Amino acid sequence: MVGAINKKIASSDSSFTAAPAIRFLYGSFSEFMSRTKATDEPFGIGPWPCLNQAAEHYKEFVVTRCVVTRCSDTGRPVGTFTCSCGFSYSRRGPDQSEEDKFHRGRIKSFGSVWIGKLKQCMKEGLSYRVVAKILGVDTNTVIKYASNGIAETIKESDKKPRPKVKKKITTVSRNSPKPRVDWKKRDLELSWEVESACQSILTDQESKPIQISIALIGKRVGKLRWLEKHSDKLPVTMSFLAKYVESVSQFQMRRVRWAADQMVGEWPLKRWRIEKLAGLRPDYSQEVSDEINRCIGHNRYIHTFMSLEGITSWLH
Ligand SMILES: [Zn+2]
Repeated sequence: MVGAINKKIASSDSSFTAAPAIRFLYGSFSEFMSRTKATDEPFGIGPWPCLNQAAEHYKEFVVTRCVVTRCSDTGRPVGTFTCSCGFSYSRRGPDQSEEDKFHRGRIKSFGSVWIGKLKQCMKEGLSYRVVAKILGVDTNTVIKYASNGIAETIKESDKKPRPKVKKKITTVSRNSPKPRVDWKKRDLELSWEVESACQSILTDQESKPIQISIALIGKRVGKLRWLEKHSDKLPVTMSFLAKYVESVSQFQMRRVRWAADQMVGEWPLKRWRIEKLAGLRPDYSQEVSDEINRCIGHNRYIHTFMSLEGITSWLH
């Protein structure tokens, strides 16, 4: 009897305390669930849409492969989505809405379908701008891949899109203990480094100009050996370098512009002063001479403009 009463008290007692406890647990449980979801499935459950604008299945939910990594800066999840058409893109998560599924971050690889479409567009003689619109990328990307038959190289290596990790493991275990170098990736990365090294030389107004050569850039990015020994494996990098490497005449013209900039307050600009500051030898070419004339003419124009407008407008 006593036991039964005790039992009754105990059970009724628990029903009183259970409600807030369950609410508390439920609240934290749902929170826990959403947190777990955000950590484990920051991009939801697949399939995900293929965001390759060149593919017939564009925006269709055909991508089944998503590898989640962490952004080293923000700690946020980064999903890399790879489609069977060879197209691969990444984006930072977690997804907040269904629409986020159609948001494309960085393109990791274009794949054979995209490259095929690019080649077809180029064959049809469409402009870079139009092709960029068709393929859903910026114009520079089109130029990058369309020039110098690079498309061919990438198409070959992209013919059989395979998960990258698997590829690496098989290579390592079957062949040699030395991991195989991914020249395609190396080439793309190096092309950015090379371009920014060239840009920083061209935009440096402080120091006396130096001629852009393969040797100079190679040393600047610390990869001279690659440029010298493996230029055949670096088609993108080499095409960028070719754009920036200066002939004697081009370098002299840049020195002329630099010299004229140094004498910005002088008027009128004297040809011999430019020649001297630019370090020109007397046998320079006609185009260099034209550049000097252009700078002198520009200086004259600026001077006239300044005297007409009055210096006051610059001071206020
Ligand atoms: Zn696809």
